[in-house]
Amino acid sequence: MATSVVGAEKNRFLRRFRGWATVAEAFLRGDSGPVAEKIFRSRWILPISEAPIENGWVMAKRHEVVALGVGDGWPHGPPVINLGDSAILPGLINAHTHLEFSDLALPIGFSGIKLHQWIELVIQNRTSRHDPGAVIAAGASQAFHGGARLVGEIATLPWAGFRNPLVPEMVVFSEVLGLAIARAEERLAVASAHFAKSQIVDRVTAAISPHAPYSTSIETITRCVEYARKEKSILAMHLCESVEERELMESGTGPFAEQLKKIGVFDARHFGRGRTVTQDILQIIAQAPSALVIHGNDLRPLEIEFLARQPQMTVVYCPRTHAFFQHSPHPVRQLMSRRIRVAIGTDSLASNPDLSVWNEVRWLLEHRPDIGWQETLAMATLHGADAFHRPDLGRIQPGASCGLIAVPGGAKQCDDLPRRWIESCDPPIWLTAPSLTA
Ligand SMILES: [Zn+2]
Repeated sequence: MATSVVGAEKNRFLRRFRGWATVAEAFLRGDSGPVAEKIFRSRWILPISEAPIENGWVMAKRHEVVALGVGDGWPHGPPVINLGDSAILPGLINAHTHLEFSDLALPIGFSGIKLHQWIELVIQNRTSRHDPGAVIAAGASQAFHGGARLVGEIATLPWAGFRNPLVPEMVVFSEVLGLAIARAEERLAVASAHFAKSQIVDRVTAAISPHAPYSTSIETITRCVEYARKEKSILAMHLCESVEERELMESGTGPFAEQLKKIGVFDARHFGRGRTVTQDILQIIAQAPSALVIHGNDLRPLEIEFLARQPQMTVVYCPRTHAFFQHSPHPVRQLMSRRIRVAIGTDSLASNPDLSVWNEVRWLLEHRPDIGWQETLAMATLHGADAFHRPDLGRIQPGASCGLIAVPGGAKQCDDLPRRWIESCDPPIWLTAPSLTA
C-alpha cells in the first residue's frame, strides 16, 4: 500500500513538476527507502501556529513532526531532503464534503442557480449510483491530492465509504433528516449503527448532522444534539445558506416554500417560525460538544454576535460553492472581526469543480485578498483542526501528526507567496502522511 501510493505520487510529480526540478530531484532522492526519520529543508516553512520561517527545516519521523528550526542546525543522522524553492505546510483540513457525488463531471445545474432549485436536481441525481463505495473512495483520493489530511464528510447512511485504511482520515457525519417523526426516528437508528461500525475502522470518527432547517424538524435537531452529547461527538448542520431559506423559516412563504410544495415535502407546521428562528436553532446546536455551522452565507448581525460567545462553534465557508450560487458576499470578515472560528470546505462536485481544499485557498487568495493570506491558510489548517478537536493537526510543531505538504515557494518575501500560488496550478505534494506510511 505504502509503496504504490508513494510510487504514484512520484509519477504524478514527474509529470506535473518538470519545471520544479530541484524539488523533484530532492523528493525522489530522499524518498527512496524505508527510513523512518527524515529532515526536509525548504526555502519557506509555514508552521501556521507561528511565524513563517525562511530557510528552515522540519524533522519528521514517518508522518509525525519531531522538530523544526531555521538555518543548518538540524540533528545529524537522518537523511536530509532539500526541497529548494518550495514552501512546506501542514496537511490541510477539508471541513465539508459530500463524497457521494464524486463521479460528477460537472456541477449540477448552472452558476447562479437558486439553492432551492438546485436541491430538486440533487434529489433526482442522488438515486442513480450503482457503486457508491467506489465513488466515495475516488472522492476521498481527490480530496487527499488536494492537500486534505482530514475530511469532514456528510454521509447518506448506510455509508458506502468504509475502507480500511482510508485515505485521508475522515470524520463521517451521519446525516439525519426528515420533517416526519417516523422518518427521523428511522434515520437516528441508522446513525446509531454507523457510530458502532466507525469504531472498528481505522481513521474514521463518527459524528452527526441534522441536515438543514428546511429538511429537519426542530424536534429532530434537538434529538441529534442529545445524541451528540451522549456520544461526545461533533455536530454539523447546514444553516443560513440562502435568503430564501430565511424567508421560508421565518414566514413560511417565498420561492423556497413554493419549491417544497412542488416536490411534495412542504409541511406548514415546520415553517413560518418568526424572526428569531435562526437564533433558536443556533442556541439548540450550541449545546453539542462542538458544532459546525455549514455555509453561514446569510448570517445576520445578532446571529454573529451569538456565535462570538460560543467558542465551541465554527462556521464552515465553502468559497467556490458560495461563488457557484452567486450568493451575496460571505460575511467571513465580520466573523473574523468577532474572532469566530472559520474553517474551509469544498462541499461536493455537485456545486464545485473539484475537491481540492488547496484550490479553495488559491481561489480565496485571488478573490478575497481582504481576508489576508496568513488567515486564509489558518482557516484551511489550524482553524479546521480546532473545529474537529484535533490539536495534533493543522500546525507544524513537535508532536503533531499533521502530515506535511510542499507547494511552490520561490519568493524572496513571504508576502509574495500568494501571488506564486495563484499563478501555479500545481497541486500540493505530500511529503509525509499516515496513508503514505501505513
Ligand atoms: Zn453540504
